[in-house]
Amino acid sequence: MHVLVTGSAGRVGRRVVDLLRARGDNVTGFDLKPLGRADGGYHEVIGAFDDPAAVARAIDGVEVVLHLGAFMSWLAADAGRVYAANTTGTFHLLAAAAAAKVRRFVLASTGEVCPEVRPRYLPVDESHPREPTSVYGLSKHLAEEMTAFFHRTQGLPFVILRLSHTQDARELADPASFFSGPRFFLRSKIRQQREFGNARAGGAGAADDGTEKLLIQCGGDGVPYRMFADARDIAAGVVLAVDAPRAENATIFLGPDEATTLDAAVALLAGRTRLPVVRANMPGPAVNYTTSNARARELLGFHPRWNFAAMIEDAFAGGT
Ligand code: NAD
Repeated sequence: MHVLVTGSAGRVGRRVVDLLRARGDNVTGFDLKPLGRADGGYHEVIGAFDDPAAVARAIDGVEVVLHLGAFMSWLAADAGRVYAANTTGTFHLLAAAAAAKVRRFVLASTGEVCPEVRPRYLPVDESHPREPTSVYGLSKHLAEEMTAFFHRTQGLPFVILRLSHTQDARELADPASFFSGPRFFLRSKIRQQREFGNARAGGAGAADDGTEKLLIQCGGDGVPYRMFADARDIAAGVVLAVDAPRAENATIFLGPDEATTLDAAVALLAGRTRLPVVRANMPGPAVNYTTSNARARELLGFHPRWNFAAMIEDAFAGGT
């Protein structure tokens, strides 16, 4: 099979490329950045998916599209770029995929199409109303709507996968990493909050004495945040969506079977880093969010293998 993987240089995309090549598929990667893979069954288009000319090059000869690329940012200054990449870009890809009559279009969406900090019930499942509260969540909500539109009007078969918070194991131990830095490390959290215009950085700022610490982030109500899926599990779920017959035209949450709370996660990290730990309440409710894997199990046969403790072991053993 010839599969187009957008976001091929990203944390999920690069693993999906590995899995597809291991089973013998030909793969076209499509990203702003090269993956740096030397392999006769892999070639790539370097460009933006909001550029129709680049999309036309990428879609050539493709049978299945795995649209895993996106621009993830929650900064107000990035809102236009988020919309252009995730909404306009998805439109161009869908239009090209429908015209090329591909067998399946798999969209990586996000749990953020639902209100992450104020879900109506837990675990969030596919019946939960979509009410995004960020421009990024809105961009994926619109991408889901457009995917349904191309199915309705042009018969494009699809699978929408709503991914949970997803990390590479090695990022968990890296204060400079995009997600895990501000999730676990006090000084990265303070830097992130200042970028968001929150000069005092809530409880994180109050806990700062100029030295690095691990942070148990809680909402204003003192409830710790909860999250984490391993990129290896999510990549395996994406590849299941290429063929699974019962997944056709379904929307499916993909996450960990059990989400880890940040107090449990930080205790494990502290055991390895020996850094002191502070607990800080941030403004607003906690991101205390779990999603149901019931449909993923039923339609994809999805069974995550990794949990947070195993990811930490792996991160400090030098794995990925
Ligand atoms: P990532 O940021 O690691 O990779 C995304 C890739 O998309 C990057 O390599 C980037 O260069 C590329 N990209 C961005 N804008 C582009 C554009 N305009 N044109 C071409 N390429 C562009 O993301 P990830 O963690 O691998 O996530 C994969 C997918 O899952 C994304 O669609 C993301 O929105 C979604 N998702 C991720 C998480 C998570 O926690 N990682 C959670 C929910 C949903």
